[in-house]
Amino acid sequence: MNAAADAVDREADRLTELDSPIGDADHGTNLRRGFTAVRQGLRDDQPSGPGPVLLLSGRLLVSKVGGASGPLYGTLLRRAGKALGDESAADGRQVAAALRIGVEAVGQLGGAVEGDKTMLDALFPALTALEEALESGEDLADALAAAGRAAAEGATATVPLRARRGRASYLGERSVGHEDPGAASSVLLVTALAEAVGA
Ligand code: ADP
Ligand code: MG
Ligand code: MG
Repeated sequence: MNAAADAVDREADRLTELDSPIGDADHGTNLRRGFTAVRQGLRDDQPSGPGPVLLLSGRLLVSKVGGASGPLYGTLLRRAGKALGDESAADGRQVAAALRIGVEAVGQLGGAVEGDKTMLDALFPALTALEEALESGEDLADALAAAGRAAAEGATATVPLRARRGRASYLGERSVGHEDPGAASSVLLVTALAEAVGA
């Protein structure tokens, strides 16, 4: 989560710029506020184990981020954290299963499917790449690196799409030709996880 907070700090301006033509120019500020609270909350509460860390982080994102991305990312983390439970560690299979539960919960909450030009267009390909890499025997660090690359490809592939969910959908055809900001931030989050595990 600290690696994610660092990445969001670093890239907040770019995320907000992506949210200008097809949104309300606040995605970077939204996430920066949320992840600053996450960083502080983890320092204050010191939850132990991946499950409690994700539960607290998710709760803070839901409560601190006004935009759509707060409840969506918050739900992802809370559901994944709940799935991980109170174990002090998680292996690759458990991480992948928890992330699948979290990402599917985002789809249920927001009513979006792949191809709707949302964060899910980065998250689902990342998840598939993670599962396939683990299945073929790669270790978690390599599998997460593959997930990061798949997320990046998925985010780039949102450019020609027409948005069907979120603010960008109000623009109809005019949403075509721009990368979805939430897909871009999902690349940062998946990449941060890969970096943290690979380090
Ligand atoms: P807001 O649009 O409320 O200002 P943000 O700018 O923080 O919120 O986040 C916008 C991003 O949230 C979008 O780029 C998109 O990826 C994601 N998003 C919005 N609505 C949905 C939805 N219904 N399902 C999945 N993702 C969504
Ligand atoms: Mg916005
Ligand atoms: Mg907003």
